[in-house]
Amino acid sequence: MDDDEILLTPGPVPVPAEVREAAARQVIHHRGAAFHQLYASVRSRLLPLFGGSGDPFLFPGSGTGALEAAVVNFFSPGDRVAAVVMGEFGQRWASIAESFGLEVRRYEVEWGKAPEAPQLAAWLDRNGPFAGLLLTYNETSTGAAADLPAIGRLARERSLPLLIDAVSALGGMPLEAERWGVSLVASASQKCLISPPGLALLWVAPGAWPQVERAGLPRAYWDLREARRAGERAETPYTPAVTLWYALEAALERIEAEGLESVYERHRAMAERWRRGLSRLGCSLLAEERVASPTVTAFFPPAGVEAPELLAALRGLGVEAAGGQGPLKGRIVRVAHMGEVGPEDVDRALELLGKALARLGAREAKA
Ligand code: PLP
Repeated sequence: MDDDEILLTPGPVPVPAEVREAAARQVIHHRGAAFHQLYASVRSRLLPLFGGSGDPFLFPGSGTGALEAAVVNFFSPGDRVAAVVMGEFGQRWASIAESFGLEVRRYEVEWGKAPEAPQLAAWLDRNGPFAGLLLTYNETSTGAAADLPAIGRLARERSLPLLIDAVSALGGMPLEAERWGVSLVASASQKCLISPPGLALLWVAPGAWPQVERAGLPRAYWDLREARRAGERAETPYTPAVTLWYALEAALERIEAEGLESVYERHRAMAERWRRGLSRLGCSLLAEERVASPTVTAFFPPAGVEAPELLAALRGLGVEAAGGQGPLKGRIVRVAHMGEVGPEDVDRALELLGKALARLGAREAKA
């Protein structure tokens, strides 16, 4: 991407210059005092994003790696696991669990919607017992977010370990992981954490370590027990992606300076701004207001305009947005408002979207 391009893809997101510059620093050895300091700094700056308690860990990898790490560190061969599938990423996590031989029962939710806690609770009671519940906090493929506190409550009432995919949520949506009954969080660096891609993040609740110790699936690279042991020396078990740690540290300093609550509020406000703007342009929103994601919005173009041609027209105007996945492929457009996105960015993108629609002859478009 050149710097004039507007990147609206739901990850990776544009990385602030200061963060990119931090990644350009000279590499250091990861068994010395300088890395120990970096480890402590990143860890302490990450903790508030998870609600202040527990243990965060970083591995070189992507979000999908973090999802696999969650599975192998929590379950044993033959375990029965419940997976909420409300889009592409819920589907991916369920498949990963199956590829490790787990018996996965899917709780399917129509794409664009989010699970209703009472119905999910009844389904769990009918189909359980389960060794764990996999949930996508924010489904990037549809722009719908789950009611995490409510689902956390029902999981806790059933002593059911809750594992969440927070790849497009961490740093953009409130998360009080331990308080909300979450046992493990999987995430990645390239979305709300305004960092380059390349870091997989995992967080373990203080009370979840016995389950991590007991888990019987084969694990080596992703073994959180090794990560925890090395963490006691402020180190990682294997070579860390040091330059990405520098970048993440700089990104977390920016988040800290803005204030976590302000960051969350800004994400909510930008989502709302997008939704209003899209409706004005005659687009219809996939997710209802009640479940709308603060970090990504999916919409159908106005009648007479196909999503792929709209994406192409946007590209012609220097705007890179995303299309649909799975059953929504070719039908929707997705835009991200995660990271350092402000009102002027949203307004500029909406203006270009209006222009693209007008070029395509959309009846309702007002450029
Ligand atoms: N989970 C969610 C919710 C995501 O949005 C993504 C990526 O978009 C992933 C998992 C997979 O992450 P990665 O592409 O970093 O492997």
